[in-house]
Amino acid sequence: MSERVRRGIVLVLSAPSGAGKSTLVRKLLREFPGIGYSVSYTTRAPRGAERDGVDYHFVDRDRFLAMREAGEFAEWAEVHGNFYGTAKAPVLALLDQGRDVLFDIDVQGAAQLRTAFPEGVLVFILPPSLAELERRLRGRGTDAPEVVTKRLENARAEIAAAERFDFLILNDDLERACDELRAVYLAARLRPGLRPGLVADLLAEWGEHG
Ligand code: ADP
Ligand code: 5GP
Repeated sequence: MSERVRRGIVLVLSAPSGAGKSTLVRKLLREFPGIGYSVSYTTRAPRGAERDGVDYHFVDRDRFLAMREAGEFAEWAEVHGNFYGTAKAPVLALLDQGRDVLFDIDVQGAAQLRTAFPEGVLVFILPPSLAELERRLRGRGTDAPEVVTKRLENARAEIAAAERFDFLILNDDLERACDELRAVYLAARLRPGLRPGLVADLLAEWGEHG
């Protein structure tokens, strides 16, 4: 039987700021260390304990614009007043190795990745309410009050884009949201398109022995 090469999954997570996306991403990556995380480029300053090269590649505006001009991004967007972008080369390298790749990007970026990777799985994380979203953003304690205000103002438009996603996860209870994200990920891995040759190889083997 020929060696079966499993293709990697493009798993995209979007949410309004403060909905709990980074928390869910961390939990999924801890449980499935084989998943590659797409480390984005951003012009915003590091927040809290964020590390360069791990959470983001923190770059200045000139470097970001030069990369954009050079066509190095699979997608990019201006979000809450800063630039964010996904470099193409590392993502393609991971997918070519059969690794699944997780993206934490905004709704504009998700729409661009939908075009670039039509087989990608798009998940939107919803907060239980706008009041709770505000509580979480302020409770995180990493953003200046005007940054929190801007992020809350943008939340409505971001949530309005949620119905274009493949899956909606309501993050009221963190453990349940985590279970649901795991379920989406595990189900996505079973799609026939990601398992080329599996059925044909099985039938061919049957032919050899039949
Ligand atoms: P995002 O990445 O979407 O901006 P974070 O993951 O940083 O959001 O979460 C924002 C804050 O909300 C953090 O302090 C996090 O601990 C908290 N949080 C995340 N999920 C929940 C939840 N289900 N219930 C209560 N607090 C939560
Ligand atoms: P934060 O500043 O809270 O880390 O992220 C702000 C927003 O930018 C979030 O919605 C996050 O998902 C999004 N974001 C992070 N990286 C990228 C990226 O590479 N591309 C796009 N389009 N959005 C991103």
